[in-house]
Amino acid sequence: MDFEKILAEISDEIQPFFGEGKVANYIPALANVDPRKFGMALVTLDNELFEIGDSREKFSIQSISKVYSLCMALQQEDQALWKRVGLEPSGNPFNSLVQLEYEKGIPRNPFINAGALVVIDVLLNHLKNPKAEILDFVRMLAGVDDIYYDYAVAKSERETGFTNAALINFMRSHKNIHHPIDQILDVYYHQCSIAMSCVELANSLLFQANNGLERGSKKRILAANQAKRLNAIMLTCGFYDEAGEFAFRVGVPGKSGVGGGIVGVIPNELAIAVWSPELNNHGNSVLGIKALELFTKKTGLSIF
Ligand code: GLU
Repeated sequence: MDFEKILAEISDEIQPFFGEGKVANYIPALANVDPRKFGMALVTLDNELFEIGDSREKFSIQSISKVYSLCMALQQEDQALWKRVGLEPSGNPFNSLVQLEYEKGIPRNPFINAGALVVIDVLLNHLKNPKAEILDFVRMLAGVDDIYYDYAVAKSERETGFTNAALINFMRSHKNIHHPIDQILDVYYHQCSIAMSCVELANSLLFQANNGLERGSKKRILAANQAKRLNAIMLTCGFYDEAGEFAFRVGVPGKSGVGGGIVGVIPNELAIAVWSPELNNHGNSVLGIKALELFTKKTGLSIF
């Protein structure tokens, strides 16, 4: 398949959609990003890389980081984790307090904020230096060393993170949080602040297209069964309260973040990432979804 040509076509066809969304503005570091950025990269299982636009520019990965921490937690505690976090799409915004109250402090899934906070609580049972170990894990998956936290973003997230503080305190009152709240929030805000490019994101999730095996070294990141489940969670819960529509329009497992990034996985084929900072009302990249929709339509590659 001529991926180079397909990416070039997509890059032309998404142009009319600039201006339809709004850049995240809850912290200055995100609000100041150029809305006209657009990058896309895909890596095949044969290790071929195709890219276009701002595919090497780093941006704030935000909620995409929840995939990495969940993966690390699955490596440590698989069954036990699912007693504390659910597996259903939320159908509610990612920071909904109402839902958490109805469900007595058990978050719907690991990709809403409450769920991601429980995942970090689990990780703290196992990691000595969580922030360093999360960063090392992401670097190892992406195959590069120069991936860092953006401390200014982490600091702003903390200063504006009142809802996250409410969520975690509420879960604590239901005894679903065991470690100090400040410590968990600190790790959470740092993981959200990681800056990566589309090329790095696509490389980092290629193992999910390869049944849990890292390409090249053949190192096992997750058991095949766990990789299948992680893909299922991305498909059903990876796009806030727009997961159904993303599955309908694009048809691949993936995860988005309010920095405008989306990473998708086509099992046994490739991993793909796209970045465009303008978001729709659900917090997902307008051009990112459009680009991936065009990609699966043009290539016929999807899980359906
Ligand atoms: N860092 C943001 C928060 O916790 C959310 C990130 C995202 O959804 O991409 O509120």
